[in-house]
Amino acid sequence: MKTLQPCGTNAAYHRHRAHGEAPCTACKQAHTTDQNARNQRRAADPAAADRAGHGNASTYVNYRCRCTPCCDAAARRQREFRKRRTAS
Ligand SMILES: [Zn+2]
Ligand SMILES: [Zn+2]
Repeated sequence: MKTLQPCGTNAAYHRHRAHGEAPCTACKQAHTTDQNARNQRRAADPAAADRAGHGNASTYVNYRCRCTPCCDAAARRQREFRKRRTAS
C-alpha cells in the first residue's frame, strides 16, 4: 500500500478535495506554494502560452501572457464578472 502524504503537501490538499473536505491551513498553504511555482515555471516559458493558445483569459492568468488577444479575453471576462455581480 502506498503511504499517504501528510498534511502540508499538495497531495494531501487534493486528498481533502477528493474527500469533499475543506483543505486544512497547512494543505492550503502547500497548494498555493505549488500553484505559484507552477505559474512561475509557466511564465518563464513563453512557448507554454503558445501551446495553450492565445485569446484566452486562462492564458492571460496562468501564463501571464500580455498579448493583445489574451488581454482582450481577460478584459472581456472581467466585464462578465462585473455584470454577474451587479445582476444579483
Ligand atoms: Zn490537510
Ligand atoms: Zn497571448
